[in-house]
Amino acid sequence: MVVDQNIPATLVEGDGIGPEITASVVELLDVLGAPFAWDRQSGGLEAVEKYGAPLPQQTLDSIRKTGLALKGPLTTPVGAGFRSVNVTLRQEFGLYANLRPTKTVVSGQHFDHIDLVVVRENIEGLYAAKEYYLPDGDDPQGLAFGGGFNSRRECARIVRFAFEYALANGRKKVTLVHKANILKLFSGIFLEEGRRVAKEYEGRVAVEERIVDACAMQLVTDPWQYDVIVTTNLFGDILSDLTAGLVGGLGMAPGANIGTDVAIFEAVHGSAPDIAGKGVANPLALLMAASLMLAHVGRFDLRKRLDDAIEKVVHQDGVRTRDLGGTAGTKELTEALAAAL
Ligand code: NAD
Repeated sequence: MVVDQNIPATLVEGDGIGPEITASVVELLDVLGAPFAWDRQSGGLEAVEKYGAPLPQQTLDSIRKTGLALKGPLTTPVGAGFRSVNVTLRQEFGLYANLRPTKTVVSGQHFDHIDLVVVRENIEGLYAAKEYYLPDGDDPQGLAFGGGFNSRRECARIVRFAFEYALANGRKKVTLVHKANILKLFSGIFLEEGRRVAKEYEGRVAVEERIVDACAMQLVTDPWQYDVIVTTNLFGDILSDLTAGLVGGLGMAPGANIGTDVAIFEAVHGSAPDIAGKGVANPLALLMAASLMLAHVGRFDLRKRLDDAIEKVVHQDGVRTRDLGGTAGTKELTEALAAAL
């Protein structure tokens, strides 16, 4: 196999703790010999100061060109009329799939041996919402109406994405999570398409169905029964934060937003202004996002080395940042990981 050692990728370090954790991750990817050729672009507060927008045009152009980005957390300025950076990116590049893997690294924290993935539909559902008030009696704003839509096309596409992900990553089962018992059309269309697509994978990946409320309870009482969960936007948003909570919270939660032409990898957490510049930020969520990025470009070999190093240093040797109950700073953790690669 010819290994491409020069894959152009956009790097946005972000703000708050972004520069600290990005420096750590880039250093570790260098030690690992990762194939990315970085095109550094600005975003967040720094970009607001320089270009007047948290997502300047040159950053968008770079991502469009490379089709691949690693992104640190970006602060969305409050009350200044800026749209959410994440929503802008999703819409701009049609990032229809949000991938949120959850794996126990630190035993005894919450639950042991968790290893599951939530695949969330990212552009439709209730978050495509049209909202407005309707009158109720004398009150002209007495009722709030919210609507959304799910298309057959997107439902089929996200379920197919989940099955393909399962096949590529050696996973055995996909669970379709829905609320079709009550929302017979709105959620029913997802279940119908899910069942149809699942048939194409019969004999290769198992399929099951769960109603979302039962799924939420089981994720707390018996999360080990799950492998890949695929669901619509709102349910996926909630369940993927729930699953992050199973393994120690947002500092351990990577995410990927994937479209046909562009994929953006990031930590799920924000810019943590309360600890920015103190050298104590946990780089693991962004590092795990980089691990997903390696798998995305087919470098499962490098991904395994990276995951093994995290497992050894954080789980076995107990080198942990403060958010995980340890005392290591970003630098010490990075050095320990570099030595283990
Ligand atoms: P946050 O995730 O930044 O912080 C929440 C808490 O978790 C804080 O106490 C913080 O110190 C801690 N924390 C977060 N990441 C950590 C890490 N890697 N290591 C150690 N501790 C960590 O959430 P917030 O304070 O609500 O948001 C701050 C800013 O980030 C806001 O402007 C928000 O819009 C933005 N944000 C950006 C993204 C993104 O770019 N993907 C996501 C969420 C929030």
